[in-house]
Amino acid sequence: MDFAFDARTEELRGQLLEFMDSHIYPAEPVFEEQLAERENPWLPPPVVDELKAEARKRGLWNLFLPGEHGAGLTNLQYAPLAEITGRSPHLAPAALNCAAPDTGNMEVLAQFGTEAQRKQWLQPLLDGEIRSAFAMTEPDVASSDARNIATSIRRDGDSYVITGRKWYITGAMNPNCAIFIVMGKTDPDAEPHRQQSMILVPRDTPGLTVKRGMKVFGYDDSSHGGHAEVVFDEVRVPAENLLVEEGAGFAIAQARLGPGRIHHCMRSIGIAERAIEAMCRRTLSRSTFGKAIAEQGVVQDWIAESRVRIEQLRLLVLKTAWLMDTIGNRGAHTEIQAIKIATPRTVEWILDKAIQAHGAGGLSQDFPLAEMWAGIRTLRFADGPDEVHKRSLAHRELRKYK
Ligand SMILES: Cc1cc2nc3c(=O)[nH]c(=O)nc-3n(C[C@H](O)[C@H](O)[C@H](O)COP(=O)(O)OP(=O)(O)OC[C@H]3O[C@@H](n4cnc5c(N)ncnc54)[C@H](O)[C@@H]3O)c2cc1C
Repeated sequence: MDFAFDARTEELRGQLLEFMDSHIYPAEPVFEEQLAERENPWLPPPVVDELKAEARKRGLWNLFLPGEHGAGLTNLQYAPLAEITGRSPHLAPAALNCAAPDTGNMEVLAQFGTEAQRKQWLQPLLDGEIRSAFAMTEPDVASSDARNIATSIRRDGDSYVITGRKWYITGAMNPNCAIFIVMGKTDPDAEPHRQQSMILVPRDTPGLTVKRGMKVFGYDDSSHGGHAEVVFDEVRVPAENLLVEEGAGFAIAQARLGPGRIHHCMRSIGIAERAIEAMCRRTLSRSTFGKAIAEQGVVQDWIAESRVRIEQLRLLVLKTAWLMDTIGNRGAHTEIQAIKIATPRTVEWILDKAIQAHGAGGLSQDFPLAEMWAGIRTLRFADGPDEVHKRSLAHRELRKYK
């Protein structure tokens, strides 16, 4: 077993670390200033576009996408790079055109889109010219069971007509979000896993209303396009906007979520590394009761535990990436679910300790920790709640003994 990165990964890691130091970290205070000055509160600050241009010039672009349409890296090669971008979660993934939900949507279009769909939507996404959204969750049904999704997609001549209500649709408040991949029911009478389909809906189609931004713990996440409630009222699109065929929605959703989950986990490890660094620096710099806070045994316990937990987690994520590359996403199903369960709770624990170590400052807007904590906490819902992953993982485990 070889734990070293290969030459291509090492080369890209070097370039990316240099880009983080020379461009991303210095842009963080600029980003914060520009956030407050934006004319449209849902547009990312202009510094993001400047970083995108620079990253693309350096070849640090679309690293997430395997195959001919992207940088062609394996999951194992991309994992350590995604981790580095996670250290600046608002800036680095967007700068490299590697931000969710566009990444998953580009994968869907690359894998399942027709030539015409790829030309119209994948290419501008690959070029970073537009953004996109993935609309599955609905306020009116328990959406963690995808079979419940009730939005209707009805065939009418050469068109499909879409009616339903979605919420928490990430990125949709951004006016540059030009295309929605919408999941809904084409045949309520088919067997449960063949009722759903996915269809492409351009933002400017009559009947589509982006109604409001949903907050998470009070944050509007406006810098990456928020999370919108979206209403589809008799929205009519050409029949060729359907992805693959009627009834394929469930299978496409499954294919989309494998890479999406591992990308979240990789970036989250970067967040945890940043939290450990912040915890160490802060506790070394302040004293209570005659010694540095870092000298207190309980704080050293947090630091040591954080290091142990993150090393365990990284090994599991890298093993999962390797399995996805070697036996495919289906073969790696148990490990993908394991990292989806393990990562948010581990990183949440580390952020909690880093916040505690900062005192009140840790809860404030002057440090990134509180917002990072809120973001990580949402990952225990996004892409499916922990309980649903545990249920399915346990079923597979039990099957061995039945
Ligand atoms: C920040 C954020 C961004 C999001 N972005 C998107 C997006 O871009 N597009 C999109 O479509 N959706 C998005 N979502 C929605 C997310 O995918 C859903 O919230 C999630 O799938 C759960 O669905 P639900 O909210 O309807 O919860 P419900 O289905 O109502 O479930 C509620 C709770 O029931 C429990 N539960 C459910 N099933 C079981 C079980 N089998 N065993 C035990 N307990 C169970 C779980 O604790 C679960 O949290 C986002 C959510 C958040 C918070």
